[in-house]
Amino acid sequence: MTETLAHQWGESPYGGLNREWEPEWFLTDDQRAIQEQLIEVCERVIRPQAIIGDRTGAYPQANIEALAELGILGAVVPKKYGGRGENHVGILMLTETLARYGCPSTAVIYMMHMVALAGLVFRAPGNAHIEDLISRIDSDCLVGTASYTDPETGGHFWYPKTSGATRVEEGWHVRKKAAWTTSCGYATWYLTQTTSPDFTGDYSDLAVFLLYPDEVDAKKDQWDALGMHANHSGPVEINAVIPADRIVGWPGDGAASNDEAIDPLAFVQYAGAYNGLAMAALDVGKQHATQRSHAQYGRTIADYATTQDTFGSCLTDVLASRLYAYSFAQELDRRTDNGSWEMYEADPDARPRASMTQWSLPAKVLAAKAAWETSDKMLQVCGGRGYGKGLEVERILRDGKAGWIMAPSNEVTRILVGKWALFGADAVDWWNQHVDEPTLNNELSKLDNEQKNALIARLQSETEETTDA
Ligand SMILES: Cc1cc2nc3c(=O)[nH]c(=O)nc-3n(C[C@H](O)[C@H](O)[C@H](O)COP(=O)(O)OP(=O)(O)OC[C@H]3O[C@@H](n4cnc5c(N)ncnc54)[C@H](O)[C@@H]3O)c2cc1C
Repeated sequence: MTETLAHQWGESPYGGLNREWEPEWFLTDDQRAIQEQLIEVCERVIRPQAIIGDRTGAYPQANIEALAELGILGAVVPKKYGGRGENHVGILMLTETLARYGCPSTAVIYMMHMVALAGLVFRAPGNAHIEDLISRIDSDCLVGTASYTDPETGGHFWYPKTSGATRVEEGWHVRKKAAWTTSCGYATWYLTQTTSPDFTGDYSDLAVFLLYPDEVDAKKDQWDALGMHANHSGPVEINAVIPADRIVGWPGDGAASNDEAIDPLAFVQYAGAYNGLAMAALDVGKQHATQRSHAQYGRTIADYATTQDTFGSCLTDVLASRLYAYSFAQELDRRTDNGSWEMYEADPDARPRASMTQWSLPAKVLAAKAAWETSDKMLQVCGGRGYGKGLEVERILRDGKAGWIMAPSNEVTRILVGKWALFGADAVDWWNQHVDEPTLNNELSKLDNEQKNALIARLQSETEETTDA
């Protein structure tokens, strides 16, 4: 492949940062080729739709169709089902490219779709219904989504409190409330997580189900937010009886699904979407700063040392975040025989992806931080023109804020990392099951005898109630 300093953008070279800043050494020739094609589709279809979607809130169906035509809507689907069998580095690059050259709203749609698709791929073998669905993702343009976040537990999306599933004659009765679901009302299939049909109070006992639009009460067109206008992350309610083969995996398999499919893909793609968005902000900043000149000095904004410092500082942070993400994705590929999903057929308990969890969390923190800080700095570099809508950097800034907030938020993720680093993996306590004994004993020591006796009586009656039940 001929190396040029800039990707082609229509008739001209791309006006943003040059390719010399691309960590292309992580990519195979095949991945570089599909990236070129995706950039061409971004220029022709996806970027124009990004502007329309932001202005009108229209769901970017044309973008989804373009991704399916390119054969990357089913990127994670193994080749034996007709997919690209793309590895983690490839998925990262595709999401990053889409956010940078195309549309961040579409990148988040792509992310939630791919995350859900990985959940299906993880347990597809032996389930003819799922095998058929995943083999038609590109040919039938089947965009899906992950309906996980519970309204009562917020960004702790792995903790579905207001949900449940029971066995019924026809299959499963699934009940779920999801506060946010990207592609709400537009997805052609939904992956959702509830407590298991065997649930007895342990919130790590989860199950995953596949549903179709007529089984889902998607609150379509209720999405009204600061940014990401086109991605329609509205609420969803489910109260449906579905056939037996629509459980993905088996009762109690939900935590494994999170560890091996949902989380690894989510963190790879968080990094892709928000590093790409940060690069998009730098691209706009460069184009404007090098073109806008001040007549009194005959110099451009880019000539100011403060601008150069801002660019150097932002680019350094974004490159660090990108290299972190590519390196983490590359190691995922190494541990999974280049992104294979086959090991789970022979050994359903295999956990090669989960063995990287502590490395996945910082990838999201770094990318969301880079996106927010870089888009803020680039808007400042562009001045009043950046504040206006014409340059697109204000849209990038509004879209970028979602990264910090999306689950787990950067605050929650940093707490998870910090706890893990200080006290070990068990201390993370995903489902709030470990008793904090120092706190408990400290609070008990504040009680007088009367209060202690009242507490003993209350605990006794509670234990009797649960024993009777
Ligand atoms: C654009 C967009 C798309 C989305 N798409 C989907 C989707 O497709 N599927 C899906 O399931 N969800 C989706 N979500 C939901 C998202 O991932 C989060 O779960 C959701 O935004 C959390 O919102 P909340 O108001 O419940 O936040 P909360 O969880 O209530 O958090 C509020 C604040 O409290 C802080 N906080 C929370 N817990 C702690 C703690 N333990 N310690 C310290 N601080 C804490 C948070 O950092 C935050 O600042 C989407 C969200 C957005 C914005």
